[in-house]
Amino acid sequence: MPFRVSRTHHPARGHDPLVVRLTSGFRRFQQRWYHDEPVFDRLRLGQNPHALVIACSDSRVDPVLLTDSSPGDLFVVRNVANIVPPYVSGTTPRGVCSALEYAVKHLKVKDIIVLGHACCGGIHALVAGETRGGDDEFIDQWVALAGKALERARAECPESGEAELARVCELWSVRLSLTNLMTFPWVKSRAEAGLLALHGWYFDLQSGELLEYDQEKEGFSVLVGHPARHERPAPGHPSARGHGPGR
Ligand SMILES: [Zn+2]
Repeated sequence: MPFRVSRTHHPARGHDPLVVRLTSGFRRFQQRWYHDEPVFDRLRLGQNPHALVIACSDSRVDPVLLTDSSPGDLFVVRNVANIVPPYVSGTTPRGVCSALEYAVKHLKVKDIIVLGHACCGGIHALVAGETRGGDDEFIDQWVALAGKALERARAECPESGEAELARVCELWSVRLSLTNLMTFPWVKSRAEAGLLALHGWYFDLQSGELLEYDQEKEGFSVLVGHPARHERPAPGHPSARGHGPGR
């Protein structure tokens, strides 16, 4: 019988260090969310997340962890470089678009947050382009969707080296994803009716700051400042240099 759940433990797997670490974590998760605080008593009936977050797959930028959120709080879609492709009608299966559609039409989220971040490998791949080499099959095509962000960054910082260019491109890619969100007719109509708010955030993992894209100023401003032990901006930080979309 397929998919029957066996209650027999597998001792060999139980000694794998990674499995031990992860299953220990899962036990703490059970304790926290099923025992001490029975959140899943409510969640097993359904989900009603506060927001959709579109974030990078990068292991350092988990939106739930970064915002100290709980199970059921955030509907999350993650991909390389937190890219939202522009709307294209058709029948090709699209992961980002289907998550977006489910969050907006079915879960009826009222907020969408595009969460970019510093030191993004996907954006660095885009900036490095053909000089990167290698035999990757999919990455270049995917990050090419953020090509307009690179164009804007190059126009803004024609003299910059690759690292600085990548940093500015990371900011522009957040703005580009916000722009592309508005190409989805059912996002645009809800946003224009005031039923849906779009946010562009950027986690600077070098300084610990959280930046927010300001539509009116067409630039980024600090949403959450440096942690107390980091009072000064890191070298090359956008808030220190005035870089960013629209500047
Ligand atoms: Zn990334």
